Amino acid sequence: MRMNIVCIPGDGIGPEIVAQANRVLDRVAVKYGHEIERRDILMGGASIDVHGVPLTDEAVAQAKAADAVLMGSIGGDANTSPWYQLPPEKRPEAGLLRIRKELKLFANLRPAYLYQELAGACPLKEEISSAGFDMLIMRELTGGLYFGERHTTVENGVRRAVDTLTYDENEIRRIAVKAFDVARKRRGKVTSVDKANVLDSSRLWRSVVNEVAKAYPDVELSHMLVDNCAMQLVKDPAQFDVILTENMFGDILSDEASMVTGSIGMLSSASLNDTKFGLYEPSHGSAPDIAGRDIANPIATVLSAAMMLRYTFDLDREADAVEQAVRQVLKEGWRTADIMSEGCRLVGCRRMGELLAERI
Ligand code: NAD
Repeated sequence: MRMNIVCIPGDGIGPEIVAQANRVLDRVAVKYGHEIERRDILMGGASIDVHGVPLTDEAVAQAKAADAVLMGSIGGDANTSPWYQLPPEKRPEAGLLRIRKELKLFANLRPAYLYQELAGACPLKEEISSAGFDMLIMRELTGGLYFGERHTTVENGVRRAVDTLTYDENEIRRIAVKAFDVARKRRGKVTSVDKANVLDSSRLWRSVVNEVAKAYPDVELSHMLVDNCAMQLVKDPAQFDVILTENMFGDILSDEASMVTGSIGMLSSASLNDTKFGLYEPSHGSAPDIAGRDIANPIATVLSAAMMLRYTFDLDREADAVEQAVRQVLKEGWRTADIMSEGCRLVGCRRMGELLAERI
């Protein structure tokens, strides 16, 4: 297969971790007979330094022409970086908001997987963490409370603020279809999370998800109220496979799910539109505090590249090989500083990338 990939190394540790993900992808291409066409674009602070804006029209056009985008991370230290003296629409994060909009990304996927080798970092009790967990939060990204009408008024000297939570059935249907498709590539289970005992938007959500489910008789669907889900994530995370939910609930639950893994440098993510196109990036930021020192953990970015193989290119065997390489390297005791523990062997970002590539 020929893969046309645009890379956004970005700022901080971004270039270091993307280089290692590319090293692993190159090894996959050699081993399984694929061809990678790759080009870099600038975004965030790196683009501000060269072009004066966080994302150029030309960079957007190049991203749109690719099959997928692999990103490091963007942004700097808000207290010391000159990028944050600029007006908000010129700051690094504005580039990220624009590219998500231009690429029409509406589905955000964040896996939370507990590696038994890293279970010591999991904040849950051992009797819970020993069961392990392997879930994926599918969050709607472009609707709901964050994009509804809002205003603040003053009536008779009393300030009043209103936000609105709106979804139409098409917005719900397209993300539900993604969730069922993704579940088919995993353990075939979808838990749809809502607040249908209170909210009209959740009742519509539930009914549209039930309609979509009819086309997926092989996928098991259940519904859960969001407050219960927040509890179940810390009480019995092993029960979940794909959690499907709206924007704000997903924002909160995906952070909770990441925290229970305990290791920020291990968390991948993907954002998809209604084609096979996706933007793949680690869940963490640009870590300016450790940039340029070859100590960042590249695994979240490597696992994001594995998601790209699986969801954009349907190369499940190759994605499995990358995920297996991560498990193997951890089992052998290799660790970057952020996940280091007694008795393990400390390596830098580049060496970790080499070890992973060697195990493909
Ligand atoms: P961060 O995730 O960059 O860092 C938080 C802590 O985790 C730091 O101590 C950092 O050293 C550590 N860390 C993060 N990733 C690591 C890795 N791969 N290996 C080892 N340690 C790692 O969050 P922050 O400090 O709040 O933000 C820094 C910058 O990143 C800000 O400009 C922020 O806006 C930006 N940011 C960007 C994105 C994105 O591009 N999608 C997401 C989040 C934050």
